[in-house]
This record gives sequence, structure tokens and C-alpha cells, in this order.
Amino acid sequence: MDFRSDTVTRPTQTMRDAMANALVGDDVYGDDPTVNELEAWTAERHGFEAALFTSSGTQANLLGLMAHCERGDEYLCGQQAHNYKYEAGGAAVLGSIQPQPVENNPDGSLCFQKLEAAIKPDDFHFARTKLLSLENTINGKVLPLSYLAEAREFVNKHNLQLHLDGARVYNAAVALNVDIKEIAQHFDSMTICLSKGLSAPVGSLLLGTKEYIQKARRIRKMLGGGMRQAGILAAAGKLALTEQVPQLSVDHSNAKYLAEQLNNVSGFSVNVEHIQTNIVFARLDNKVDIHTIVQHAQEKGILISAGNPIRFVTHKDISKQDIDTFVEFLKSEV
Ligand SMILES: *Cc1c(COP(=O)(O)O)cnc(C)c1O
Repeated sequence: MDFRSDTVTRPTQTMRDAMANALVGDDVYGDDPTVNELEAWTAERHGFEAALFTSSGTQANLLGLMAHCERGDEYLCGQQAHNYKYEAGGAAVLGSIQPQPVENNPDGSLCFQKLEAAIKPDDFHFARTKLLSLENTINGKVLPLSYLAEAREFVNKHNLQLHLDGARVYNAAVALNVDIKEIAQHFDSMTICLSKGLSAPVGSLLLGTKEYIQKARRIRKMLGGGMRQAGILAAAGKLALTEQVPQLSVDHSNAKYLAEQLNNVSGFSVNVEHIQTNIVFARLDNKVDIHTIVQHAQEKGILISAGNPIRFVTHKDISKQDIDTFVEFLKSEV
């Protein structure tokens, strides 16, 4: 039982079968039919002209930023944005792109007044502000469609591009009960992680215009991200975006269930109203010795990460019964 992340999901049997039987070629020559099919299908499915299969979400975000911005350009993002905080500063290090973070609101959104104030005038003292990057879901929270529409208006007004780090964008679509295109339509570019709750073993996608994806493809090669018989991975990716999507609503109701149950554990408290998708944050009283609990859990084959708030993630390899077992274990510890 692994509550640390939804990246720990194992590929399904249908994925393994599809991988074993995938038609493959050398994707750097453009010859892998399974990658080509995934890219064409994904572009069409999400309402973009083109798509690019990448080795990770970090790579997809980096290519996404580098294809929008040149050296000395700048992107606006949240202080908590994955592509600012958790990607080793790649945009700055490898792209010479300056991040301009602003504080996230508690619901994960960014305040348009703060963003507007952060846009640099056209003056040689400043980096050139080119792009606004949002994240949906962010820490398990869903940005409402009305907010995305406002973001589109904001970037139009200020002549910026709009990127979505959509590592968990399917969790957002499932939580809102809308087609993925309802979210995607607002963005110039978007990434999707196939290897989180959607259960593929490896891979992400970057979406955008043909010209933009062509530029990203060149940068992907430069960064060593050109993969050869990658169809073996793309075969699982297609199943992630089709037959695995309904699993996310199970994960979301399991997260809600876990949150409710945690409130019955002494020293743990969760605001159940805040649980929108598959991520649960619980506050711990001072009396909870989380490091000992993590260690005892591990001895029982239960993996959790220490922290306060402590984060739990539900996914296809965690059942409701697992949650009961886990909560019983916690009760015996506190
Ligand atoms: C996981 C994640 C990424 C990066 O994905 P990797 O495949 O781990 O590189 C990017 N953005 C968000 C919001 C993520 O959760």
C-alpha cells in the first residue's frame, strides 16, 4: 500500500499486453507508428494542432517554456508551481528564462492584479514578460473554468501566451465533470502526465500549434529526449488517456473517504470540504510522532511520507479496503 504519490501506479495488464505487441520504429526518424498515432490522436482529442511525446512531465514543461520563450524572456507562475519549485530550476538553468513567481491564493489560483503588477514594461532594464503558466490541478485543487476564461482574457489583454501544467489535468476534468476540451480550449500549450493516476509507466505529452511543437521537438533532441522505439511506451500512454480515465473518479471518492476516516484518528484533522481530487492533506497535533508512525507503517508494508501537513495520494493501486486497513493501523499507533 503506497500513499506517497499516484506516480507509484503499476501498468495494467492491458497496458503490458499493448506494450508487448506495439508496432515500433525509430521515433527520432519519425518512424514509430505507435508514437505517431498517440501524438496525432492526443492533439485531436484535446483540440490542439500537434502533440509531442516526452520522457517526463518535467521535460514536457521545460520544452513548453523553452518553445514559448527565448533567452532573457520571462514567465509568470505561482510560487507553488511545479515548473518553478520542483523542476530544479530548469527553465532558468537550461532555457535562460527568468521565472516571475507570485504567491498562490489558497485555492491555487493566481491573483490577476498581482500578475499585472509583475508584468515588466517594454524597457531594456527588464526581462521580456512572455508567458503565464498555470497548473491544474494544483496540490489537488481544481481551478474553476470561469477562472481559466479570465486567465485567457488576461493574457489576451497583455499579449502573453498561456501555458498549462496539466500533469493532473484529467483529475480536474473528472472533478468538474466536463470534457477535457473545456479546460484545454483556453491554453496555447498544455502538458499531460501519463504516469500518475492514469497508470502508464513512463511519459508525458506537450500540446500546441504545429510550429510550436516543431520547435519543442528540436529542443527535445537537444536535451537528449529523442527516444528510439518509444512506441512501447506510447502504447501504454494511449490506454492511460482512454480506459484509465474513469478510475480517477474512484480515486477521488476514495480520497474523500480517507479524509473522513482520518478525522476519526486522534491527532489527525482534515478539512473534508477541501478534498476535490485524489490528494489529501492532514494536519497533525504536536503529540503525533509521525516519524515513528512512518517507520512502523513501513514494517507493515504501508508507505507514507512524513510531513505536517501530511500528504496522502489515492490511485488505482489503493482500494477502499486498503484505506480501512491503513486507518485501523493509524488508530493503533496514536
Ligand atoms: C509530477 C508533476 C510534474 C512532473 O512530472 P515528472 O514526470 O515527475 O517529471 C509536473 N507538474 C506537476 C504539477 C506534477 O505534479
